[in-house]
Amino acid sequence: MKKRIYLDGFKTLKDKKRYDKISDYLDNQYELFIKDKAKPKKKKKISRIVYKKDNTIQVFRLGTTSNDKIEADKKRKIVQSYTFSKDQFNHVLNGMKGMKEFYGKANTNCLSCPFNSANLGTKFGACYTMKFNQYVGFLSMLKGIQKEFKSFESLPDFDKDIHSKIVDICKNTYVRFGTYGEPSLHPIELIENITNICDTWTGYTHQWFRNPELSKYFMASTHNEFQEKNARLKGYRSFIATKERLNQFINCPASSEGGYKSTCSKCGLCSGTKGKGNKSIFILEH
Ligand code: SF4
Repeated sequence: MKKRIYLDGFKTLKDKKRYDKISDYLDNQYELFIKDKAKPKKKKKISRIVYKKDNTIQVFRLGTTSNDKIEADKKRKIVQSYTFSKDQFNHVLNGMKGMKEFYGKANTNCLSCPFNSANLGTKFGACYTMKFNQYVGFLSMLKGIQKEFKSFESLPDFDKDIHSKIVDICKNTYVRFGTYGEPSLHPIELIENITNICDTWTGYTHQWFRNPELSKYFMASTHNEFQEKNARLKGYRSFIATKERLNQFINCPASSEGGYKSTCSKCGLCSGTKGKGNKSIFILEH
């Protein structure tokens, strides 16, 4: 029986030559074995997935957040979705400056939202995303995307592969749809599959009047009882940002008047009719 000699695995051409040299010296009493030392590679979860759809750029990002009304655990990775307009993408690509100008180009991603300063007559600053640190975060995200894809046209279109990568990062975590922009612009089959496998989710749309099919997943963003009633006729629960208390509804537990008792990732009440809860929610506008 042949004697066995074990060698460490070779990685370079030099190692291969060493192996051949040793083989030459051995007579047929010996047998050489290469130990495979390579460790199985851990599958790395992709942290940002981007595609283009109808003059928007849509992003799903897995990462931590510093916003403790959303997630108190600073180490927990959650998924947040964003939509930007093609004009905002090109604004950053062309090195144009100005926060007002940037938000003023949210035409295809914020649509008819009453806080969208791209719409005639709407003042800048009404939307909670119009803050300097949020703006800087969006610029940095878009610059990162531009480094990778160079132009709007080179961004990939939504397809099956992108769909499954996004669903994969959403498994067993909290998903915040529409951290910026309209989440109703995401493909509905993607929203459905994410909500099937994530831990909890939240999402809000000002486009409830034209998308009754999204009432399963998202809250209608409304501002008074009248709008809440209309949204209910379309099948929606509402998230009502109001100046007066509406005690027939649930007060958001992450609000200042609610005493910051919870976070969105724990509470998850803003998850349409398919998620948690039956009633509409209200929060006081300050
Ligand atoms: S009700 Fe719950 S999910 Fe909705 S905003 Fe408040 S904390 Fe977040």
